[in-house]
Amino acid sequence: MPLTEFSPNVARLEASATLVLAARARKLRAAGVPVVDLSAGEPQYPAPPFAARAGIRAVEEGKTGYPPTSGLPELREAIARYLCETTAEEAVDPGAVIVSAGVKQSLFNCCYALFGAGDEVLVPSPFWPSYTTIVRLAGAAPVIVETTWDGGFVPTVEDLEAARTAQTRGLMLNSPGNPTGAVIPPDLLREIMAWAERHGIWVLSDEIYRRLAYAAPAPSVFDIAERGERTILLDGVSKAFCMPGFRIGYAVGPQEVVRKMADLQGQTTSGAVGPSQHAAAAALGESAPRETFVDDLLSRLAELRGTGLSRFAEIDGIEAFPPDGALYFYARIGGGARSLDVAERLLADVQVACMPGEPFGSPGHLRFNFAVEPEVLEEGLERIAGFFG
Ligand code: PMP
Ligand code: GLU
Repeated sequence: MPLTEFSPNVARLEASATLVLAARARKLRAAGVPVVDLSAGEPQYPAPPFAARAGIRAVEEGKTGYPPTSGLPELREAIARYLCETTAEEAVDPGAVIVSAGVKQSLFNCCYALFGAGDEVLVPSPFWPSYTTIVRLAGAAPVIVETTWDGGFVPTVEDLEAARTAQTRGLMLNSPGNPTGAVIPPDLLREIMAWAERHGIWVLSDEIYRRLAYAAPAPSVFDIAERGERTILLDGVSKAFCMPGFRIGYAVGPQEVVRKMADLQGQTTSGAVGPSQHAAAAALGESAPRETFVDDLLSRLAELRGTGLSRFAEIDGIEAFPPDGALYFYARIGGGARSLDVAERLLADVQVACMPGEPFGSPGHLRFNFAVEPEVLEEGLERIAGFFG
């Protein structure tokens, strides 16, 4: 007999599948099971030492009071400079930047501020599971726009137009995307932004994997001159700077939206952790060490991507989509098996933890994080080959 009925706010809320699976793999490892954990999307490497030191120094120097709700001025300035240095945008006002506890919180605040009952938000599929959940938490309805393997897992304007109704208020973009690694090429992004502008649709562009692109640089919405005013860029330090535990993300958009997000944050979390903000300011602040760090990470990931793709090509029964960005192999499995069951069996039989496609809206697939040590990936692929072989 349950203790209570939950409020309608959360009655249908589900736990984050990615985090649940990662926690399960961690628990098994702690119990001595030799799990190869390729589940959570997380670079399993240390943060830049210069960023970590800045966080430690902040604590040691007693910079432990409440930070400003929207973020430390030096971090908002560093973000504005970073965007000017790495996109075509020439001037970003630090006042248009809000810092939150990860992109996840920025995204929640943004959706909660902009969308509500009766609104529809287009979400290209496969999608990161939190998008649909967060849109629902805001009271709005996610509308799935299917993309295909053969179409490179990117939505076309025709796909979006077919899903548009009078209620469409927003579009989630994620390029490079989780879980597929697909990159929306510049011309298509330009067309999508112009389409959204024409219809007064808010574009929430989650660019957390933007710097992790293998074939060609992944364009930002800030590279697109045709973008409308209803554009919000979201990014953070969890992926390209290997700092997920610092919980720092940000959104950049029109000041009135950013101010409302700050009010929401001021009534819920009082903003992001102060010492983490000092660390993030150091990570982004100086271009030379920052770019060296990203370059090194990218070469490391490119190597792992290459090894993994050639290994997958030798395994029957599973086929990996060649990702142009991000840090995942998204693979389809033949035979009509449920990917949830296959993921369970991979864990039970050969102790490899991965993500099934179902939470991403695409059954029949498995997602593997390849941002691990080379020997971990090799061991994982060996076991995957044994399982499917
Ligand atoms: N967006 C995407 C597409 C992601 O894969 C993730 C997962 N980390 C996030 C946002 C959340 O990132 P953060 O750690 O900044 O909350
Ligand atoms: N985003 C990562 C993933 O897709 C980390 C977990 C999460 O934040 O959902 O696995």
